[in-house]
Amino acid sequence: MFAKVIIDQDVKALDKVFEYIIPDNLNINVGMRVYVPFGQRILQGFVIDINNSCEYDENKLKKIISKIDDFSAIKPEMIDLMHYMAKKNHLKLASILRLFIPAEMREGKVKELFETIYILNDFSEIKLSKNAKKQYEIIEFLKSNNLKASSAELSKYGYSAIKALCEKNILIKEKREIKRAPFVISQTSKKVELNQGQKNAIQQIKENKTYLLHGVTGSGKTEVYMNLIENALMSGKNAIMLVPEISLTPQIMSNFKARFGENVALLHSGLSAGERFDEWKRIFSGQARIAIGARSAIFAPIENLGIIIIDEEHEASYISESNPRFDTHDVAQFRARYNKCPLVLGSATPSIESYEKAKQGEYELIELATRANGRELPKIQIIDMMNEIRTGNSGIFSNQLIADLANVINNKKQAMIFINRRGYSSFMRCRDCGYIAKCVDCDVSLVYHREDNRLKCHYCGKQYKVLDKCPKCGSENIKNGAVGTEQVVHKLAEYFPDVKILRMDNDTTTTKNSHQKILSEFKNTLPSILVGTQMIAKGHDFENVVLVGIVDADQSLYHADYRSTERTFQLITQVSGRAGRSESEGKVVLQTYSPHHYVYKFAANYDYKGFFRKEENIRQTSQFPPFTRILRILFSDHEENYVREMLKICYTEIENLKNKYKDDIIYLDAMKSPIKRIQDKYRYQILMRFKLNKADEIEDEVFNIVDKNTKTSVFFEVNPQNLS
Ligand code: ADP
Ligand code: ZN
Ligand code: ZN
Repeated sequence: MFAKVIIDQDVKALDKVFEYIIPDNLNINVGMRVYVPFGQRILQGFVIDINNSCEYDENKLKKIISKIDDFSAIKPEMIDLMHYMAKKNHLKLASILRLFIPAEMREGKVKELFETIYILNDFSEIKLSKNAKKQYEIIEFLKSNNLKASSAELSKYGYSAIKALCEKNILIKEKREIKRAPFVISQTSKKVELNQGQKNAIQQIKENKTYLLHGVTGSGKTEVYMNLIENALMSGKNAIMLVPEISLTPQIMSNFKARFGENVALLHSGLSAGERFDEWKRIFSGQARIAIGARSAIFAPIENLGIIIIDEEHEASYISESNPRFDTHDVAQFRARYNKCPLVLGSATPSIESYEKAKQGEYELIELATRANGRELPKIQIIDMMNEIRTGNSGIFSNQLIADLANVINNKKQAMIFINRRGYSSFMRCRDCGYIAKCVDCDVSLVYHREDNRLKCHYCGKQYKVLDKCPKCGSENIKNGAVGTEQVVHKLAEYFPDVKILRMDNDTTTTKNSHQKILSEFKNTLPSILVGTQMIAKGHDFENVVLVGIVDADQSLYHADYRSTERTFQLITQVSGRAGRSESEGKVVLQTYSPHHYVYKFAANYDYKGFFRKEENIRQTSQFPPFTRILRILFSDHEENYVREMLKICYTEIENLKNKYKDDIIYLDAMKSPIKRIQDKYRYQILMRFKLNKADEIEDEVFNIVDKNTKTSVFFEVNPQNLS
């Protein structure tokens, strides 16, 4: 028999299928990991196919040396998925397979964790010396403990006593595997009576289709998800549920654990390597039937899926920006098709792309228009910060926000202060008239780059000198617009010295479980204020939060990205959803330097549809996605000359495509990447924008050109989230 093997090396030259002979004594199945001879080396590989005959010259084939595991780590569905992703995302086969198993398993770093247990053998015949007091105690203990105990439980009797009993064969030593289970806040399951909207949604979601569940914050989407999963389990099927990032999982997890117990496995990057490996194995073996996790949980080794859910479907983190680059929605759709099950995309603020698809009939739209507890959404008050400056307050906080905070504290309630900090780039803004520096060609804001003290456009690469005077009003008070969480906490402490102020951002959440610690401290302190970044925007359900302050809503608005308005709308809606979730009424104070921007009017009225129509119109006229497609081709290498050469050759050939597709290619240019060098690799890019009707065709031609002309890795990104 012959095996087709993919070598587990992320190298372009090895990115093909190799054939090997399967020795008769090895029982090899498709999906197994194996050791194979390769040149002078022994390498790991994946068996992706087994045949009676071979395509290559049989006499030249080598034999598989041995198997690495005695099971097929890659299931048949995942081999199909690999082929699909290789074609669609233009990725190397090995790099895709690596997504499907825990890294720990590949590198052989983590193993099953064992503990020693001692079992009491037949003890009727035993004669122990009278002095062996400890040994008698151990026997008594075991009798009262189901005849067995772990070494930890016996340690108090001393090792010499245990050893003596083992030598006399009174105790038998055994190894038992310990499962490392992730930390979860325990919670009791509260069963709620579903409302009509929820019932309708659950009834409707049953076909092999994509459903867009548009439900306002607090509309009870989680309850819908749980019921859908319950139904899947009852019909003997399994489920995957994705959530955006680790900040969300503690709460989701405790809800799901309470409802589904051991059936739930958790997969996310906040777990230790050992925990991740054990959770993966629980899923793989069928012990856990629901995989919950961030983006990569879409690759969970679950068979027979009955439902796939992507919560907060609009989140940028569902698009992988590191290699290998893929779009989670797309993978989820593949798996839903394969398993003939529904895919549910849930959000209070669907992405423009998804909502457009629902509008075109590609997705089925389901709406939950009211909060499950019948409460109103909190009122959003827009504060014009330019006006604050004019009336003599040039601080971070408006007078209104400080007054409202004082009120919250008097009533022993809680507030959240949200700092909008997307990415690390920043823009230039005039403090006097609100002017923002933008690219003259692209109408996106320019990004300040400290290393060469310039303003750059991330879409066309054009560079501008840093402004020392505002071109609109002449003021010299023009600067880099960013405010940090630390600064905000510090200022708040001056206003409210006796109040507990907690901070949650990238810096305060570096250690394991730090999210949960900060959140439970916040939950248990009244009054208190939680200051944080995007991390506090999602999912949290704190009943005492009555006020949300958004310090500088504009920051994501002027991010150099065609999605920046959409992102701002989503953020405001989400953070606002944190206030007034139980009995007390909630309020949101939104501070902005551009109070007349259309996004604020729609956001303050919770008018998603109005916003969608406006935004759709703008995207259509300016020819941006979802009405066109952006493709970025990123070249990088240690040798700058080599990258430049590659770029030039590819660019010239791609430019020729303009003859064939002159009406379809809207934009094409080559340039240095905004970040010129990462990890000592020089980065150059080709940016293209083209119309949708010919998009796949153009993309294929570009893939072929690049493939033919390059020896090292080149990365392709469709509609990138970030152009740095
Ligand atoms: P979403 O995810 O849509 O923002 P959640 O699922 O977090 O909303 O639900 C918000 C709150 O409403 C939760 O506390 C939840 O327990 C509660 N809830 C959900 N469904 C119902 C219902 N049918 N009746 C009463 N309360 C409900
Ligand atoms: Zn100005
Ligand atoms: Zn530009």
